[in-house]
Order: sequence, then structure tokens, then C-alpha cells
Amino acid sequence: MGLESEELVTMSNQNTIPLGRTNPLALTPEALVPRLGDYLVEKGQITAEDLQRALEYQEQLRHSEQPPVLGDILIDLGIITRRERDKAITELWIQFRSALTEANQQLEERVKERTADLETALEQLSTLNELKSNLVANISHELRTPLTHLNGYLELLCNGDFGQLNEQQRNILGIVQRSAERLGHLIEDLILFSVSEKDQIYLHIQATNLREICASVEKRNLNRAKEQKITFTVEETKEGILVDADFEKITWVLMQLIDNAFKFTPPGGEVRLKAEVDGSFIKLQVTDSGIGIPAEQIEQIFEPFYQLDGSSTRKAGGTGLGLALARRIVEAHGSVIHVHSELNKGSRFSFLLRIHQEPSARAEAKGQGESA
Ligand code: ADP
Repeated sequence: MGLESEELVTMSNQNTIPLGRTNPLALTPEALVPRLGDYLVEKGQITAEDLQRALEYQEQLRHSEQPPVLGDILIDLGIITRRERDKAITELWIQFRSALTEANQQLEERVKERTADLETALEQLSTLNELKSNLVANISHELRTPLTHLNGYLELLCNGDFGQLNEQQRNILGIVQRSAERLGHLIEDLILFSVSEKDQIYLHIQATNLREICASVEKRNLNRAKEQKITFTVEETKEGILVDADFEKITWVLMQLIDNAFKFTPPGGEVRLKAEVDGSFIKLQVTDSGIGIPAEQIEQIFEPFYQLDGSSTRKAGGTGLGLALARRIVEAHGSVIHVHSELNKGSRFSFLLRIHQEPSARAEAKGQGESA
């Protein structure tokens, strides 16, 4: 059975915890089988008094150079023979082995049960998640149809197709049109979100002029900067550089980051979009001098619907979907969004886009890489 004398001594030396099994999951010898002394008493081979006498003797010799183990003391005191001791230890060892096997089997059973529970919970969660995505998708599509009618008639009204408008009417219609436009953006965000939930972000990646992206973003934010009294700058390193990107989606991401920068920066502050070369990539950075984000919440702001100020009285509007979607779009481009932020000082969101290389240049670069 391969018993080592060291193991036997270790087992026979234990006799200070009460007889009986404790927690079967604590797989120690003492938890699974009784101690030698208790075992011998249990078997009727020695009396409780014999054991007490041997333990007292052992206690007296506890501080000697080589304190004897209980089995030896029992032999020395003539309570049991060497053979009886070895037999008892062997029996205890067998008991221990089978108790261990049983405990392992129980453990495996419990792990199996828990794994099955977790799998069921995961399945339920994914069904719920799918239901939620479908609900969001259906509702947003339903909202889009009436909004299209609303926008159509608004345009006709504004163009004077139903009669000339006075200034007050034009102003009012302007407000309605802007609100309808915001509603449209929210619906589009919801649709994009429900689609991305199903891992269905379709990208149309092509060689895209960085200047066009920046110009479009700049143009669409100039008025807002003026209205909010915020200095807005767009900095580019080189004109006409091409990146591998989906023009619409990356423009959407930058608009989203800049929208947040404007929302969370007080008047008199600064918002900057910077594009700079970083090796074979372009680094796009949106920096603001706004309220900043607490370090422990930086990860959470990318969770769908998460907002630092989730109260109904918060000043900034929004759905809490912007960053979740921005991250998915950037990741679908094979990149990552980084955030650096300091409370009351501002935030910087950045990500890389690969500079476009013509196939011939790419092959050449690859060839050089391989020969290097
Ligand atoms: P939304 O802007 O619609 O609330 P986002 O997903 O774009 O949703 O952003 C989530 C949250 O992250 C925001 O509500 C805000 O609390 C925080 N946040 C995002 N950008 C900034 C920023 N530039 N400065 C400070 N807080 C920000």
C-alpha cells in the first residue's frame, strides 16, 4: 500500500481534537478519520483511562528533544503491542483513503450541480438579453415610421408649401424640427445598439480621407461651440492622409465623444479634436477641460445605459448608450478606446486608426518585415 513511516507517525501523533468527522470538504486526515487514540478506544482495544494516561505521559515529554508519538508511548507503557499499533494505523489509513475518495466524489457531484445551475442561469440570461434586444429593435423601428412622417410635414411647412409663415411660426417650427432631429438621433442610437447587441456591426471599411472626417465633425460643432461659449479646435498633422475606416461610423464615434465633451464642459472651457500620426496609425484624441470622471468609474461609463449622474434632475441629456456603442464600433475596427481623466480638470478619449496602405506598399512592407 506504500505507507511511509513518516506518514504513519504524523497520523498517530494527532490526538488533540475531538473524535468524529467535521467538515468533509476540509480534506485533512483529522477531519476525515478519528485519531489513533480515539480509534483504539472506539475499537475497545484500550480504555479511555489508558488513553488519558498515555496522553498525560506524552504531555510530560512534550518539551524533550524528541517528543515521542502517541503510538510509541502506548507501546512503551505496555498498553498495546507494536503489531497492534501498526494494524490500527493501517486500518486508519484505509479509512482515510476511502473517506477521501468519498469526499472527492461528493465534491465532484457538487461541482457538476453548480456548473449545471450556472449553465441554466446563463441560458436564461442570454434569452432575456435577446428578448431585450428584440424589444429595443422593434420599438425603435416603430418609432422611426411616425417620425419620418413628422419630419416630412415639418419640412413642407417650413418651406411654405402650406402657406407663408410669419417669423414666430418659423421660430416655433425651427424648435420642433430640432427636437425631431434629436429624437431621430436617439432612435438611431437605439437601433444601432440593438443591432450591435447581436454582434452585427457591419462596417464598410475603405480608404477614408481623414480630412473629410475632421471637416465634417468640425462643421457640425462650430455653432454649438459658439452657443456654449466653448473654444473648439480641430488639429490635424497632415492633409489628405487616408485611414482604413468606415467613414459614417467613425464620424459618429467622434461626434459622440465631442458631444460628451461639450455636455460635460462648462462655458469658458475647451474642447479639442486632434489627429496625429503614431507609427503606422493615426491617433484620434478628443480632449475637454470639463468635470472629469472618477477613476473608479472609468470602466462603467462604457456599460450600456450607464451615466455618472443617473438622476432624473441631471442637466445633461442622453441615453447612456453613446460610449457603449462608440467602444463597439472602435473595437470592430480592431482598435481600443483609451480614457484619461482627472476630476475637475478634464478628460481625454483616444483611439488609433490604421493608416491606409496601397496593396503594393503593404506587400513591400511585409516583405521587408520578413527579410528583417
Ligand atoms: P450619455 O452621454 O448619453 O449619458 P455616454 O455613454 O456617452 O452616455 O456616456 C456615459 C456617461 O459617461 C455620461 O453620462 C457621463 O456621466 C460620462 N461621461 C462621458 N463622457 C464624459 C466626459 N467627456 N466628461 C465627463 N463625463 C463623461
